[in-house]
Amino acid sequence: MNQGNEAYAERIRSLAPTEEPERQYYFIDVMKGILLAREEELGRKLTMNIQTFGCQMNAKDSETLAGILSSIGYLESDSEEADLVLYNTCTVRENANTRVYGRIGYLGNRKKLNPEKRIILCGCMMQEPQAVEKIRKSYRFVDVIFGTHNIYKLAELLFEREISGSLIVDVWDKAETIVEDLPRLNKYGFKAGINIMYGCNNFCSYCIVPYVRGRERSRSAEDIVEEARHLAACGVREVMLLGQNVNSYGKNTEGGITFAQLLARVSEVEGIRRIRFMTPHPKDLSDELIEEIARNDKVCKHVHLPLQSGSSSLLKAMNRHYTKEQYLELVAKIKERIPGVAVTTDIIVGFPGETEADFEDTCDVVRRAGFMSAYTFLYSKRTETPAAKMENQIPDDVAGARFKRLLEVVGEVSSAQAQEFEGQTVPVLCEEYKAEEGLMTGRMDNNLLVHFPCEEKLLGELVTVKLDVCKGFYYLGTLCSTGV
Ligand code: SAH
Ligand code: SF4
Repeated sequence: MNQGNEAYAERIRSLAPTEEPERQYYFIDVMKGILLAREEELGRKLTMNIQTFGCQMNAKDSETLAGILSSIGYLESDSEEADLVLYNTCTVRENANTRVYGRIGYLGNRKKLNPEKRIILCGCMMQEPQAVEKIRKSYRFVDVIFGTHNIYKLAELLFEREISGSLIVDVWDKAETIVEDLPRLNKYGFKAGINIMYGCNNFCSYCIVPYVRGRERSRSAEDIVEEARHLAACGVREVMLLGQNVNSYGKNTEGGITFAQLLARVSEVEGIRRIRFMTPHPKDLSDELIEEIARNDKVCKHVHLPLQSGSSSLLKAMNRHYTKEQYLELVAKIKERIPGVAVTTDIIVGFPGETEADFEDTCDVVRRAGFMSAYTFLYSKRTETPAAKMENQIPDDVAGARFKRLLEVVGEVSSAQAQEFEGQTVPVLCEEYKAEEGLMTGRMDNNLLVHFPCEEKLLGELVTVKLDVCKGFYYLGTLCSTGV
């Protein structure tokens, strides 16, 4: 390393505030200077591109990462030819990892043509030491690696990379604090995610999330409400409250309120018209929460309730803490107390030891619960999880055949559920506009989509639409009124 560089770096570091987020705003400013100087030399603006894999939490983290990068001065680009490419990775299933390796290889080739190119990897996959080892060995051109607990440090890590000229790895085993008030670049403008808690304590036996996202930590209700206020002031109409198990919100926090109380508090924020949330765990979904969803007009009538399996014995092996019967009773109660509610789910096929009878139980629950939709996953063996060591791993061909059968059952059930609203006039949030067809896509309270002719200027507005024809999983409709 260049001596001059190190002296400069030492001076910059010694002046950095120790408190967060002030420290990161300081490094954002430092990086802004470095970037401007590079841009002047090159005679062009530098660009960035973020690729997000996996769940809503990652999507939310990516908005923060985009906020940091655009505060530094990078222009957003929708191409991986950008000067800085960041992969926010997922490791819930093995194929997500395989895809990432393939794409990093491609980025490495592109970097040979653009010496400015920076390749940044973060997210759940980077919490796995084997993954980081493999990248160190086989993808030496990567610039920065960090994990799920320190995304707020992006600007500081980029600075360290510019100084050292080589790979910076900063992955923490657990979170130290929750850093508030970071910049964010909101993807949609009219809807946004809000993290209400981080991590998970449930240790479902197949799941890697507790290992890569750490123990459960709730944010304070004040910080959450403040974020909702800020978003509303920026034009956001719909917020989605995010946590791996929102039912345990506030449980390990002194003076914490319940999740139902939090919903009530967020719904008091002026300008927020709709609230969604993900994910409640069936084992501890309270009556208080059901009542709040039923009573509160702003809370969308949609409960995403992951089933995982319909077999009580598999549920036990999965460490889910409910039985087939308890799950069905819960769905019946939700449907009875919240008229018009949509229940959706996640299902895993091919968990170790799954028999034909277990699988039939899953199909039975799908039929009886009447899901509006279901995300179906082939079981994926994750190292370190208890299920990976279980005997009776299911052969791929057996799991694959069951997966196909399950898709058919889900298809039949969900199209029958979706059909029920034909002819109704309902409020929808205008989410996407296709100029070629002059069609808007609106999302109903229950998460179903409807396409209808209307003008682009209504994007982000709540309007009412008549649901003319159901096309299986979505509707074609007619705009009735605006300014709902
Ligand atoms: N916290 C949420 C889900 C997080 S992961 C919950 O408990 O519901 C999202 C989904 O990925 C899970 O619901 C599960 O269906 C699926 N999943 C998790 N681990 C998996 C694995 N090892 N193989 C296949 N699917 C998995
Ligand atoms: Fe994974 Fe279970 Fe936690 Fe959901 S509740 S993140 S499935 S361990």
